[in-house]
Amino acid sequence: MDNALILIVEDEPQIADILVAYFARDGFRTVTAGDGDLALQHHQMLSPDLVVLDVKLPRRDGFEVLAALRARGSTPVIMASAMGEDLDKLSALRIGADDYVVKPFNPVEVVARAKAVLRRTQGGGTAAALLRVAGLTVDMSAHSASLQTGDGPAQALNLTLTEFRMLSFMARSPHKAFSRAELLDACLPPDGEAIERTVDSHVSKLRKKFEAAGGQGWLAGVRGVGYRLRAT
Ligand code: CA
Repeated sequence: MDNALILIVEDEPQIADILVAYFARDGFRTVTAGDGDLALQHHQMLSPDLVVLDVKLPRRDGFEVLAALRARGSTPVIMASAMGEDLDKLSALRIGADDYVVKPFNPVEVVARAKAVLRRTQGGGTAAALLRVAGLTVDMSAHSASLQTGDGPAQALNLTLTEFRMLSFMARSPHKAFSRAELLDACLPPDGEAIERTVDSHVSKLRKKFEAAGGQGWLAGVRGVGYRLRAT
């Protein structure tokens, strides 16, 4: 937990400043984002250890941000919302927040909750470092993937960053059919340039790399939906 990076997503600068000060006092590093788009960019670029996420935000609200974060992986999230928004609380827990604080909050309590969530999530966190699907092994910490077919040795798949993100995202649910929009959201920088056809191009290159390593039947097209990692 030492030196953990906390992404604080909060559009009220005074509240953000208070949280920064209290987290810093306990030895955490912090970065702030004042709107939902910036939050997703910071998350992608900086891989924070935990996100404190306000619900009412400009551009994308906290629920949209949370859904996008969950599509990308399991970064712990503590939602912060105004008092009395019980509906918000229910939907936050349903779509996967790790904890929840009500505004106006005591910053000491927010830091304590963050520590508790980090203890809980980092304890079991190493088990997910390797994803295995049939002959495919995705090493999340080394950012590499290899494929074994038949009796031969495993062959490294030489992937671009986007291809790696796409593959590791799909490998968590190998039989799910993903829409292009889901793959776009999870794997590509939210810069507005990327369009859904970009996904086709990345998938096509990824599939060629599997075929070059002797792997058939990967990255299957699903008519009217998008793609899934394994056809069966
Ligand atoms: Ca707000």
